[in-house]
Amino acid sequence: MPRPLYLTFDDGPDPKWTPRVLDLLARHDAAATFFVLGWRVRERPDLVREILDAGHRVELHGDAHLDHEASTPQQLADDTLRALDELGKCGVVPQWWRVPFSRAGRATLPLAERHGLRIASWDADSFDWRGDSWADQSTDVAELAALGGVIQLHDAVQLGMPRGDARNTLEITEELLEAAHRHGTPVLAFPPASTDEPIRDTPRQTPFARSQKSVRQWKQEIAAAEAARRRSSDRGL
Ligand SMILES: [Zn+2]
Repeated sequence: MPRPLYLTFDDGPDPKWTPRVLDLLARHDAAATFFVLGWRVRERPDLVREILDAGHRVELHGDAHLDHEASTPQQLADDTLRALDELGKCGVVPQWWRVPFSRAGRATLPLAERHGLRIASWDADSFDWRGDSWADQSTDVAELAALGGVIQLHDAVQLGMPRGDARNTLEITEELLEAAHRHGTPVLAFPPASTDEPIRDTPRQTPFARSQKSVRQWKQEIAAAEAARRRSSDRGL
């Protein structure tokens, strides 16, 4: 089976944009992962149920979207508890944590460990948060869709984002879904955090899209990982 494509949506759930993303995913028979914010869940817990009922995965982003590097350990601990509490009311015990701004601080990993969370990073930034349309993207996002991996998108407009709405997220998502379909790449929700599947779990600082070199590097990484897997299965491990 080709390496799966994992579409991930941060910053929601949003009453205007999340249902549209859900419609799009349903039309393509695809599953995704939503890294939600506690303050938004508090306002619209029904949207979390809608996401779950459609077969997607709901995981943790934060409560107030704190910058971990700029927060004290206490602020971070409180924020995380608030978000976990809100998710708990919806019956969600998250296993994955997409840290806001993809920037972990000193307190992030101990906190993740305390709550049994595994850090979820991404392979490609769609740059939807910046307002980039599909037409502005280089071809490597489509190429990444064919290769599989974790792609970061946003189903809400977070404060400070240089875009007025999330229309481009729908556009980029549709292109990714169509590219995945053309290449026979399965589009899946994240597996359980205990999985051995080689999805990325270390914070990545550098945006991936727009760099052919990065795509080449990634292809090499995938080839190396597959070779290592073959070697270990040859040894009967
Ligand atoms: Zn975010």
